[in-house]
Amino acid sequence: MAQVPENREKKKLPRKDLPADARIETLSVREGLPPTQWGENSEALFLTSSFNHPDAATAAARFANEEEAFVYTRFTNPTTMMFERRLAALEGTEACIATASGMSAILMMIMGLLKSGDHVVCSQSVFGSTITLLQTQFGKFGIETTFVSQTDVNAWREAIRPNTRLFFAETPSNPLTEVCDIRALAEIAHGCGALLAVDNCFCTPALQKPVEMGADLIIHSGTKYLDGQGRVLAGAICGPDAIVNGPLMTTLRGAGMTLSPFNAWVVLKGLETLSIRMAAQSSNALKLAQWLEQQPAVDQVFYPGLPSHPQHALAMAQQNGCGGAVVSFTVKPFAGDITVPAPAVLDDAAKRLRQAAFHVIDHTRLCSITSNLGDTKTLITHPSSTSHGRLQEPQRLAAGITQGMIRVAVGLEHIDDLTADLARGLSSLNFQS
Ligand SMILES: *Cc1c(COP(=O)(O)O)cnc(C)c1O
Repeated sequence: MAQVPENREKKKLPRKDLPADARIETLSVREGLPPTQWGENSEALFLTSSFNHPDAATAAARFANEEEAFVYTRFTNPTTMMFERRLAALEGTEACIATASGMSAILMMIMGLLKSGDHVVCSQSVFGSTITLLQTQFGKFGIETTFVSQTDVNAWREAIRPNTRLFFAETPSNPLTEVCDIRALAEIAHGCGALLAVDNCFCTPALQKPVEMGADLIIHSGTKYLDGQGRVLAGAICGPDAIVNGPLMTTLRGAGMTLSPFNAWVVLKGLETLSIRMAAQSSNALKLAQWLEQQPAVDQVFYPGLPSHPQHALAMAQQNGCGGAVVSFTVKPFAGDITVPAPAVLDDAAKRLRQAAFHVIDHTRLCSITSNLGDTKTLITHPSSTSHGRLQEPQRLAAGITQGMIRVAVGLEHIDDLTADLARGLSSLNFQS
């Protein structure tokens, strides 16, 4: 990209006039771009692929990057920029680039920052497609990844090689809600000259700001809580200006993992209610987790907001005192004759757990049976046969995901209606105590 000549100041796009100390709730509804000449109150949706220039000289200045302006929607669009500025403000980073999906944000990060021969250290508990992307796709191009325990800080340190360039973490993890120590990982990464990227999908900046704990880059699947209503796919990466508007912008221009302005507008409006949704859904999740712990048919509950969670104190410190909105639990094995279909490789004990989990899921009427998360509707899923269905049973068991596990992404329904929905299956379950 051409540089601005030193004696000329680069013409920048205007910023909204907001108080420097505006809080997250205020930024969620106010940060963006100044309105157009028409003075619209709600942010406008600019469905246009390109932008006109007043004259040829201005077009040349904009293409030479001497003047910041909207040129072509693959890399600049006002609606998309409003979403990017708002999310950057919430995360507390200098810059943000929106992408077509959460996965394409990770794709852009690795394509833009790493090269063949580089090495990544990544938690083994990250989103399944992230593991595939790193291992299979980038492995093919000579970028190697070592997968380590989410919670064992020493394992991260021991995995470092002279060519380690990136640490990648996601906290809390799915579906076990294991929490990793962001501060400790940042220190280890920086000690070897690597960057720390954190997938902040489960907490969002409403609960957790990884940059304040030393992380360099933040990955988002906007598909989840940022939209918050399960409507569109979206993603984003937030970080320092030098990285985001440097190599990552170059990657976006060249590779085009662009977020559509329409989807950007949906997620932009979703951000306006992010803080209150996260607070309300986390509060519902805590009540549900506490209730589940009391149920005789429930074996174990995984929720960072419970004192029984192994990293409870760390989670409360990192997540603004909130556990988040995802609760997982395991049920006790079914005691009767097994009737649900199960793969032949499963032993009798595993089949009994699967039958019990299916019984509870199939007795819900409110919860949606789907593997997505981050919706105002409560979503319920059986990880072993859906999101983690392509793993072998021993791999799943090594990761702590049994056939008896159920994950609930808690929404905004009344808590009593949610407990009643789960009580239908839990109280009618014929289980082995
Ligand atoms: C869903 C998800 C992704 C991928 O996001 P998409 O928008 O589906 O591409 C990445 N990380 C986490 C933690 C997710 O839950």
